[in-house]
Amino acid sequence: MPELPEVEMVVRGLCPDVIGRTFTNAVINWERQIAPLSVKAFSERITGQRVEQLSRRGKYVVFTLSSGALLVHLKMTGRLYVSLPDQQDHADRWVRAIVGMDDGRELRFSDLRKFGRLYLVKHAEEVTGNLGPEPLSEAFTLERFQELIGHRKGMIKPLLMNQEFIAGIGNIYADESLWLAGIAPRRGADTLKPGQIEKLYHAIRQVLQQGIENEGASINWYRKPDGSTGSYQERFYVYDRTGQSCPRCGDAIQKTRIAQRGTHFCPSCQV
Ligand SMILES: [Zn+2]
Repeated sequence: MPELPEVEMVVRGLCPDVIGRTFTNAVINWERQIAPLSVKAFSERITGQRVEQLSRRGKYVVFTLSSGALLVHLKMTGRLYVSLPDQQDHADRWVRAIVGMDDGRELRFSDLRKFGRLYLVKHAEEVTGNLGPEPLSEAFTLERFQELIGHRKGMIKPLLMNQEFIAGIGNIYADESLWLAGIAPRRGADTLKPGQIEKLYHAIRQVLQQGIENEGASINWYRKPDGSTGSYQERFYVYDRTGQSCPRCGDAIQKTRIAQRGTHFCPSCQV
């Protein structure tokens, strides 16, 4: 699933093509993905709306419209891209929504697995209101992280992936930041020492930043809007590297399951 860096790249890639454009119509091929709106209501409400701004909140792409907002969650296999009407794209096979724009081009949403969602709402907060802080924002300071982690119980890895705790971290960047901080993924959040919390804070920001600098991790479905891949998958410390040597201590990286998610870690230098 695309995480913060991948969604950030989708937003950056789309910005020049959609900001200032007005939506002229919408064709929806899979009604469940725009629920609770009907196809008719969605089309009527989006037509005539101008894209004032494009941003990211957690794993959501947020179109700020002249009246209201369109939010897109890519989930497992969602892709957003802009094409000319007669232009073919590999991802068109799974196109679920096409929104026409006043320059004649189309914003397309493709999604093989159909888990992605489009939310057309009055206020973006209706969808993002429960999300935790943005880990790369200035407001997310070490002090704030210390406060948040406070007396949270339970294993640290699922906590990092809890979107109401911090927004934007998924399986890849949770594994990567825990390795960088030298913390075992099963470690109880309330057992972390102040020095480990500080290391984890910096590790989270570092791996997310590295993810953005490498234009995201294309392990399976994620593509930038121009169809190209990111390269962070070539720089993984532990993710998807089961049996290979740990970049820090040389021991073999192991894979286990935590909260139903494949989890990669070094059994020697993550404690
Ligand atoms: Zn190691």
